[in-house]
Amino acid sequence: MKPYVLPDLGYDFAALEPYISAEIMALHHGKHHKAYVEKANEVIETIDEARAKNDLSSLAALEKALAFNVSGHVLHSILWKNLMPQGGGVPRGELARRIAQDFGSFEAMKGQLTEAAATVLGSGWGALAWEPTAKRLVTLQIHDHQSNVAQGAVVVMVIDAWEHAYYLQYKNQKAAFFEAVWNLWNWADVADRFERASVPVAAEQTR
Ligand code: MN
Repeated sequence: MKPYVLPDLGYDFAALEPYISAEIMALHHGKHHKAYVEKANEVIETIDEARAKNDLSSLAALEKALAFNVSGHVLHSILWKNLMPQGGGVPRGELARRIAQDFGSFEAMKGQLTEAAATVLGSGWGALAWEPTAKRLVTLQIHDHQSNVAQGAVVVMVIDAWEHAYYLQYKNQKAAFFEAVWNLWNWADVADRFERASVPVAAEQTR
């Protein structure tokens, strides 16, 4: 049994059109995400073999490869759930309240998250995350899949800023892609992730 498994999308490749083309979705899920899953499974097996042979010299590079591929798998798994056909609009409830509290307004959060994605140098992600130490929502600019992350922060919403996420459809007009994804957010999923991430805070407050 392999530890990492490619999840189903939950909707058709064409379901996010016109904002994200079926061609991009098919390649993004079926090739790119699948490759991270397969590589993560391969690397963790190689780590076991290296440990069994007491070959410690290869571990650092393997652990780096594991961090990259597992993080790619995790972020894409979140992304597919974050998106939905006929999504968009604005969040409600506690998530909306926290966004207003921590960013000033929904529009301010939208601007900061879009900027985080749009200004990635090379490959990376923009993310909205719960930072449990300060107990607040923050935006993160994740480099590759795993760098520039505040330890302990829980990602609740992601924008993929890798070229494979938009180039076939948007070419060099990536700003149009970062605007288009705001028509696809599944706010119920983002709210659910936010609520689960911030539960320990609620528990702490009632102690
Ligand atoms: Mn991607």
